[in-house]
Amino acid sequence: GQCSAHCPVGAIYERDDTKELLNAILNPELHVAVQIAPAVRVAIGEAFGLKPGTITTGKIYSALRRLGVNAVFDTNFSADLTIMEEGTEFVQRLTEGGVLPLITSCCPSWVDYMEKYCDDMIPNFSTAKSPMMMQGALTKTYYADKMGLPKDKIFSAAIMPCTSKKFEIVRDKDMYASGQQDVDLVLTTRELARLIKQSGIDFLALPDEEADSPIGAYTGAGTIFGATGGVMEAALRTAHFLVTGKEYQAITFDAVRGMEGIRSATLSIDGKELRVAIAHGIANVRDLLNEIRKARDEGKEPPYHFVEVMACRGGCIAGGGQPYNTTDEVRNARIAGMYADDQQSEIRCSHQNPFIQEVYRDFLGTPCSEKSHSLLHTHYHPRPLYTK
Ligand code: SF4
Repeated sequence: GQCSAHCPVGAIYERDDTKELLNAILNPELHVAVQIAPAVRVAIGEAFGLKPGTITTGKIYSALRRLGVNAVFDTNFSADLTIMEEGTEFVQRLTEGGVLPLITSCCPSWVDYMEKYCDDMIPNFSTAKSPMMMQGALTKTYYADKMGLPKDKIFSAAIMPCTSKKFEIVRDKDMYASGQQDVDLVLTTRELARLIKQSGIDFLALPDEEADSPIGAYTGAGTIFGATGGVMEAALRTAHFLVTGKEYQAITFDAVRGMEGIRSATLSIDGKELRVAIAHGIANVRDLLNEIRKARDEGKEPPYHFVEVMACRGGCIAGGGQPYNTTDEVRNARIAGMYADDQQSEIRCSHQNPFIQEVYRDFLGTPCSEKSHSLLHTHYHPRPLYTK
């Protein structure tokens, strides 16, 4: 274990699960597949002296392979998949008169908060699982089939910017969609950095490598999930296409970017006004929810159609598993790294990802199909802290 930087007497040790990954790698029976989250790539470099926001995606893939991992995947791929599922769910609710606003649910801290403190909002929650959980479900089904591997011989791990993700993998029985735990282990960015150092790997000298197929390639829309407003922007890029069958004239939506605690924007899709809002940091989320509840309880039109919520200020780039000393300056630099990565991506809309198209064609059918629902969607339950 590593002494927490925050405990003055060293009595509290940071949880360290790195041995579990090493044990899986050393087990010749297991095929180890590891995914990395969007926000990890703009922060892990800090542990090796690089500036916040430096993009090190290729070096992380490389480091994982040198640690002995069998397949390197990218959570960004499933971020694209989340957009297909959640975007379709949104368009269905919008056109068929479902409960609005639709609220994003890829942040497990927010899901836990909602189930404990505001279960009246459960009908508003997107049933789409987080990208990490979708990636885990596909790893043990679609990928396992393609490789001819029994799923119990696959060890699926995820590198996340987030400590809550360690809880999410066992949150509900839906997280066992493949018939067993879909993601076996979560390591934080800090844990991976520690593992790389302890293994004597010279991170900065590593060549840039590519992720493995067929669930590794991603678009710029998948990347920006790591920044506050990113899920919304990625969803908007695809929602326009899902509604109209045509591409939107612009790719970027500046109105949803930035660090304001609550941001809102109105845009028009096919002559229909679409109101969206973003909140990050739980105090801001509470204020936004109260606004939504007030309209609901007064029987008025919902103030928004689609809402993105992230528990951490700035989004996952500033998650609890990232390198320490996260000031707003660091947050802004990491966010700039996310947008730069998107900017340099050849494809920037989730629905244009050829591997996403392939997974629907060969395996899932259509977004929100029965198969998608059983593998990629979940349920929420009130979990009150006290019984009244
Ligand atoms: Fe985790 Fe924070 Fe991202 Fe939520 S916003 S998923 S708590 S890193």
